[in-house]
Amino acid sequence: MTAAVTLDRVSCVFGSPGHEVRAVDGVDLTIEAGEFFTLLGPSGSGKTTCLRMIGGFTLPTAGRVLIGGQDVTMRPPYARPVNTVFQDYALFPHMSIRDNVAYALMVRKVDKAERHRRADELLALVELDGVGSRRPAQLSGGQRQRVALARALISQPQVLLLDEPLGALDLKLREQMQSELKALQRRLGITFLFITHDQHEALSMSDRIGVFNKGRLEQVGTPQQVYDAPATRFVAQFVGAANVLDGEAARALTGHASAMLRPERIRAGAAEGARAVGTVQEVQFFGAFTRLKVESGGALLQADLPHGSSTTPATGDTVHLHWDERAVHALGGA
Ligand code: ATP
Repeated sequence: MTAAVTLDRVSCVFGSPGHEVRAVDGVDLTIEAGEFFTLLGPSGSGKTTCLRMIGGFTLPTAGRVLIGGQDVTMRPPYARPVNTVFQDYALFPHMSIRDNVAYALMVRKVDKAERHRRADELLALVELDGVGSRRPAQLSGGQRQRVALARALISQPQVLLLDEPLGALDLKLREQMQSELKALQRRLGITFLFITHDQHEALSMSDRIGVFNKGRLEQVGTPQQVYDAPATRFVAQFVGAANVLDGEAARALTGHASAMLRPERIRAGAAEGARAVGTVQEVQFFGAFTRLKVESGGALLQADLPHGSSTTPATGDTVHLHWDERAVHALGGA
C-alpha cells in the first residue's frame, strides 16, 4: 500500500551562515494511509516546521516530501492533496460560518447552491447544524474549532494536518474534542497528522507517535511502545513521569548502567522482599494517585500510589518499595 506521507531525509535550516537554526534535521518518516499520527515534542523541537513542509508553506533545504507516493517537494500548498487546521483556526470574521466552511469551493467557483449544500453537510458532520448563518464571533471556542475542521475537510484532502488544534480550549472541552476528533478520523478514514506538545493527548489519540527533540525524531512507535520502551532518555522523560536512574544507584536498584522505572509501577509494602528502602521526602496528592518522593541510596525515586491505597506514608516515614522486574526498562548510554 502507498504511504500517505513520506519524508525522505528532510531538513530545514533557518537563518544565515554562522547563525543557523536546524529546525528539522534529516528526518525520515513514513505515515500510513488512514493513520492517526502525532508529532509530539517540546516547544521549538521542529514539529510545526515539519508540518509546514508537508503542507507546502515552508520549503525543505534538503530532502524530499512525498504525499500518496507523489513527490510534492516543490509544489505550492494549493497543489497538494492536504489541508491544514491551524491553532488559531484562522476563520474569516466577516463571513458567515457557512461561507467560511465553503471558502475552498468558492475559490474553485463551485456554484452557490452546491457550496451551501456541501457546507451544511460538513457542519452536520461536526455536529454544528443550524449555525451556518452566524459569524465566528457568535460561537464558542470549541464550536469555532469544529468550523475550522469542517472548512479543512470540505476540499476532501487525503491528509489532514492539525497544528495544536485543541491548544486554545480548556481541559474539559479539550478532552471532549479529543474523543470527537478521533471518532471523526475513524469515520472518514482520512490520514490525520496531529501536532501537540501534550503527552496525554498524544498517548490517548494516536495510532503512532513520532517524538521530536531538537529537530530530530528520537522514536516512532505506538503509544504503548513509546511509553513502555522509550528509545532514549529524552523520550523516557518527556512522555509520562519517569524515574531515570544512572550510575551506582541504577546498578544497585536495577542491575543496569542506566534504567527507567515508571512511578506507577512502584508500590510501598512490607520490608520483606523489598527492592529498596528509603525515606519519604515529599507527599503530593494528585487525586487519582499520591506521589511520594523517596530518597533511597542516593537516588530520589518517585512512586505513585493509587488513590485508596490502604496506607499513605507521610513525610519522614521509612518506606519499603517493591516493583516487578519487568517494570525496569534499560536505557542506552548515560
Ligand atoms: P512550538 O510548539 O513552539 O510551535 P515546534 O516544535 O513546532 O514548537 P518549530 O516552530 O518548528 O518548533 O521551530 C523549530 C525551530 O526553528 C525553533 O528554534 C524556531 O525558533 C525556529 N524557526 C521556526 N520558524 C522559523 C523561521 N521562519 N525563521 C527562523 N527560525 C525559525
